[in-house]
Amino acid sequence: MFNKLTIADFDFADKRVLVRVDFNVPLDAGKVADDTRIQAALPTLQYLLDQGASLILCSHLGRPKGQVLPELSLRPVAEYLSKMVDAPVSFAEDCIGPKAATAAEALQPGQILVLENTRFHAGEKVNDPEMAKQLAALADVFVNDAFGTAHRAHASNVGVADYLPAVAGYLLEKEIRYLGLTIADPRRPFVAILGGAKVSDKIGVIRNLLGIADQILIGGGMANTFFKSQGYSVGESLVEDEALDTARALLDDAGAVLRLPKDVVIADDYSAEAKSKVIGMGPIPEGWRILDVGPETIASYSKVVAEAGTVVWNGPMGVFEFPNFAKGTFELAKAVAESDADSIVGGGDSAAAIKQSGLADKVTHVSTGGGASLQMLEGVALPGLVALKDK
Ligand code: AMP
Repeated sequence: MFNKLTIADFDFADKRVLVRVDFNVPLDAGKVADDTRIQAALPTLQYLLDQGASLILCSHLGRPKGQVLPELSLRPVAEYLSKMVDAPVSFAEDCIGPKAATAAEALQPGQILVLENTRFHAGEKVNDPEMAKQLAALADVFVNDAFGTAHRAHASNVGVADYLPAVAGYLLEKEIRYLGLTIADPRRPFVAILGGAKVSDKIGVIRNLLGIADQILIGGGMANTFFKSQGYSVGESLVEDEALDTARALLDDAGAVLRLPKDVVIADDYSAEAKSKVIGMGPIPEGWRILDVGPETIASYSKVVAEAGTVVWNGPMGVFEFPNFAKGTFELAKAVAESDADSIVGGGDSAAAIKQSGLADKVTHVSTGGGASLQMLEGVALPGLVALKDK
C-alpha cells in the first residue's frame, strides 16, 4: 500500500538531512497564528535528532512569486520552532547560495538550521534543476515530510530527489496511509461531504468518488452551480457559468449518489450583517444570494453522517467566516465528530472549522493539506510522493 522508503528504513547517524517541511503557516503581524503544521512536523524532526542527524529544514511560505518579501520570511517560524524543540535552531537568510552553504557546513549533529523561504527564488515553482542541485548539495539525504505541497512538483520537494537518496517522513506517510486506505478500502457506507466555493476545483474529485462513495453530500457555493444547471434562478449567488454543462453531466451520471441541499439560507447582501431567511430550494429571489445550507439539509446530512462507516469532508457548507452563515459548517463538523465513522477532514477551511469548534480530537484524522488531499481523493498520484525511493 505505502511502497516508498521512509525514515525508518535509513540510518541517519552523523548525516546532514535536508527535510522539506510544510511551514506554510498563517502569520499575524509577524507572529505564527496557527502552529498546527509545525506541530505536525515534530515527530519526524525529533526522530531524526534522536538518530544523531543534523537537520536542514526548508519550506515555502505564502506566495512571494520569486521575490524576496520580508513579510514572508521564515525567520519568525524558526524562532517559534526553537521554543518547541530541545535543540539549537539557527536561521539562514537564503535557502541556497553561500549563506545557506556556510550555515549548513557549520551544523553539528543535534542542531537544526531553518532555511529562508524557498519561493523567494523563481526556480522553486518551475522545479529548476540548478536550484534543486544547490539545495541537495547542502545535505547527505533528503526527507520529504511536506504533505501540504506533495501535489506540486517543485525544486524543494521533487527536484532535490534527483540528487539525494530521498525518503518519506512520518507525516507524509501518515497522511497518505489514512487517505489512501480510505479510498482503497472504506468501511461502508462511505460518505463524502464536499463544499467550498467552486465546483470547478472538485470536478475530478466528484468524478472519482462517484465510483467509490455511497453518498456525496454537496454544500457551499459549489451547490449553486448545480442548482443553476437544473434551471433554477440563483439570484446573486456565487455561480460558475462556465461549469454549468459539467455540473449537469455530473448530476445525470450520479443519480441518487449525489445529494444537493433541500433548503438554503439566503441573504440580501454578501456581508456578516446581511438580512437572512431560510427557504426551501427553489428560485432565489432577485437581489438575494445563498450563503449557507438550511436546517432541513443539516438534519438530513447529519443523519447520513451518523450512519456512515467512513466520512471524508472537504470544504465548508457556507460562508462560515460570517457567524450568521456558519451554522451549516459547524453543525456538520459536529455530526462528523459525533459519528462512529472513520472520519477524515481535508485541510484548509474544513480543518479550520473543525478546530474552531473544538472537535478536532474527535475525528480520526485532520489533514494538513487541502490541495494534496483533494488530489488524492481525485485518484491522481502526488509528484512529491512519486519522486521518493521505492521500497
Ligand atoms: P474552498 O477554498 O473552495 O474550499 O472554498 C472555501 C470558501 O468557500 C470559504 O471562504 C467560504 O466562504 C466560501 N463559500 C462557501 N459557501 C459559499 C457560498 N454559498 N457562497 C459564497 N462563498 C461560499
